[in-house]
Amino acid sequence: MKVDVRQTLENANQAFKNWKKTSVDLRITYLEKVREKLLSNKEDYAKRMTEDMHKPIKQAVAEVEKCSKLLTYYIENGKNILEGRTIKTDWSETYTVHDPLGVILGVMPWNFPFWQVFRFAVPTILAGNTIVLKHASNVPKSATALEECFAIEGYKQVYYKIEIPGKDVEKVIESPIIKGVSLTGSEPAGSAVAKKAGELIKPVVLELGGNNAFIILEDADLEKIIPVAVNARFQNTGQSCIAAKRFLVHNTIKDTFVEKFVTEVTKLKKGDLLDYDTEIGLMAREDLAIELEKMMKESIKMGAKIVCGGEREGSFFEPTVLTNVNTAMSVFKEETFGPLAAVVGFDSFEEAVELSNNSHFGLGVAIFGKNTEYIKSKVHEFDEGAVYINEMVISDPRVPFGGNKFSGIGREMAEEGLLSFVNKKSVVVK
Ligand code: NAP
Repeated sequence: MKVDVRQTLENANQAFKNWKKTSVDLRITYLEKVREKLLSNKEDYAKRMTEDMHKPIKQAVAEVEKCSKLLTYYIENGKNILEGRTIKTDWSETYTVHDPLGVILGVMPWNFPFWQVFRFAVPTILAGNTIVLKHASNVPKSATALEECFAIEGYKQVYYKIEIPGKDVEKVIESPIIKGVSLTGSEPAGSAVAKKAGELIKPVVLELGGNNAFIILEDADLEKIIPVAVNARFQNTGQSCIAAKRFLVHNTIKDTFVEKFVTEVTKLKKGDLLDYDTEIGLMAREDLAIELEKMMKESIKMGAKIVCGGEREGSFFEPTVLTNVNTAMSVFKEETFGPLAAVVGFDSFEEAVELSNNSHFGLGVAIFGKNTEYIKSKVHEFDEGAVYINEMVISDPRVPFGGNKFSGIGREMAEEGLLSFVNKKSVVVK
């Protein structure tokens, strides 16, 4: 491990010794100041994200605002969640307390450079831990902005950034200073981190890929669904783990859906990323656009048809809709991390469930139809971490978030997120 990284770990460990003794009230005041700083630098932070990974500015500003909502959620609810509980026994007192673990390592991706970090950092720090953050190598401006945002005058530093390549993360996990690790990113990175953390018996949270289905039943209201479907697939230029990637549509309405969907997709405005009207950005890196193009071309060779889009120019990938997709194609089997929608027809609810579950990921599914009670009765049939009915899958600080199968281990946000890196200590008094 490089000397400066070792020194940062030492500093974070020293800071923990002080931070763990602070009251939850003081930590909440600290988070209020972080929120103030975040909002007063909103445009600047948003611009740095856009410069790093080519997100349209309006979406970058919305991302900063979403981070402030997460702060507000924990500012208002954190104290209650951390309180522990009393348990009725035949001893005189039995209760639980939540103590922090120490220095927690966060390894984060580039796609939502602020949001992913905030949803890890805020609850982890509020629980009394300090953190060391290794951000994705292609978002250095965001990484610096984040460290600045969490540095509050009058408070000792609790958020530390390190700059190392992904392959060096294992060495950091090996440090006895690191007491837990949270990674949001791809499956290979998650697997490498889990292997090392497992060997050393350190707790781990993994938020990995997704191949979410967006199911449209026969009786669904297409007029209402189309704008939701466009947003679910194309926001953040399709680079979202919870994006709708496979559109499963009842065969009786599939052609109408495709026609209306494509009409709206072709209206998505590309252009200057700093223009507030721009809706589709460039992909974060050209190699990612090339990879998506490869998946598209392979699938076309196997019989998929382009209804709109299909062109790539550098890292710009035209919003694309493919039909005639089947389960053997890579656009169905693998995660399409960019602006490409795959449409597949089905004839029965059972078939829709089977298609949805036909993925080694299990992050979330969205289902649209009039009979909500019927859909609710089928929730247990899905292998996902979340089922959204008549709503696209979104991440919300009030709702636990995480994946099943190869989409990950553990949950972020809500109560679960705040208790991910604590020692749930039981206390018994005779
Ligand atoms: P990635 O390549 O796995 O990178 C994520 C982070 O892991 C980066 O900081 C990266 O560092 C690091 N990393 C890479 N290889 C590593 C290794 N062997 N050991 C430890 N760390 C390693 O993923 P990405 O391309 O940035 O992000 C896209 C993926 O993230 C998609 O699969 C997406 O679905 C998933 N994601 C999931 C969620 C969720 O909540 N479930 C949310 C957002 C994104 P370097 O940049 O230095 O390589």
